[in-house]
Amino acid sequence: MSGLSLNDVTKEFGNFKAVDRVALNVPHGTFVCLLGPSGCGKTTLLRMIAGLEEPTSGSIAIDDDDITKVPTHKRDLGMVFQSLALFPHLSVGENIAYPLRIRGRSKDEQARRVDELLKLIHLTGFADRPVAKLSGGQRQRVAIARALALSPRLFLLDEPLSALDAKLREAMQVELRQLQQKLGITTIVVTHDQREAMTMADLVVVMGEGRIRQAAAPVEIYRKPADAFVADFIGMTNLLPVEADGAGRAVVLGTAVPGLSLSAGVKKAQISVRPEDVRLTAPGDGAISGTVTFVRDLGGTIETFVEAGGRTIVAVATPRERPNVVAGSPVGIVLPAESCVVLEK
Ligand code: ATP
Repeated sequence: MSGLSLNDVTKEFGNFKAVDRVALNVPHGTFVCLLGPSGCGKTTLLRMIAGLEEPTSGSIAIDDDDITKVPTHKRDLGMVFQSLALFPHLSVGENIAYPLRIRGRSKDEQARRVDELLKLIHLTGFADRPVAKLSGGQRQRVAIARALALSPRLFLLDEPLSALDAKLREAMQVELRQLQQKLGITTIVVTHDQREAMTMADLVVVMGEGRIRQAAAPVEIYRKPADAFVADFIGMTNLLPVEADGAGRAVVLGTAVPGLSLSAGVKKAQISVRPEDVRLTAPGDGAISGTVTFVRDLGGTIETFVEAGGRTIVAVATPRERPNVVAGSPVGIVLPAESCVVLEK
């Protein structure tokens, strides 16, 4: 079953296309992260899925039911937004029970469901606590539980963790993912944080200027970015020009990269090489020659910045593989062909 399908969904504000023919099929139970820079249309897309914004054209289906014209409250959704919007004067239990109460569910059912959900969010025993007396992470979990109270078909979250400090946010990412796996609920999260997306998602959807640039599993997005925009947006990367020479070799910064070639007929393109794949050696031996400009030792990893042919190339190593260089050292740069993603688009 398809948990969510977006069929050429478009949203125009006047002449401006905020979302441009987005087509996506999400299997039921998938955790999707919509990822992209500010203004790329993520929130507008989520709001259309939620029914808070009407598409200019295209259609949306949840679990194979077309809901394009169905009002929000009949779409069977759970929603959490950045602001959380918990009721400050109500207790934890009353907040979670609220959606059940306004739908006239019995007191028994409310109590049972609150117990279940508190267990699920690791807050058993907190039912009577005023929400004003909770930590940021606890409030987050209560908002999630309230959104799930009616067992929705689709769970939508817009930047749900962005108000939390870095450490708590990372812990909540893991918790949210584990909760989603336990429930098997199709979940769509908007985020601009690529680490967050990589942590939680089955499917990362990278958007740029209203369009899907790539939709794939996190590792595939990282290892096989579809274009320079995606390569640059996901993690750190080195984007370098590459040219085909007369002998069919791929030349980067004046040096042929053994084993690398461009498609027939392509003269110029770019390559993306992740910093952890860049190897630094002694100068010479067919390596690209460069000069170290800066070494950033972060304890767990060491980033070496090398200038070559007017470009800065970053190499990342662990302390064990520490390249024995300081600022000013001449070095050779080796780009292993198998780590170079050629971007011809
Ligand atoms: P952010 O991460 O900053 O929230 P986003 O990717 O979620 O960005 P959207 O909020 O979807 O982006 O906005 C996409 C584009 O549509 C932006 O250029 C925004 O200014 C524009 N936009 C959004 N809502 C409206 C509106 N109601 N009227 C006019 N333009 C709008």
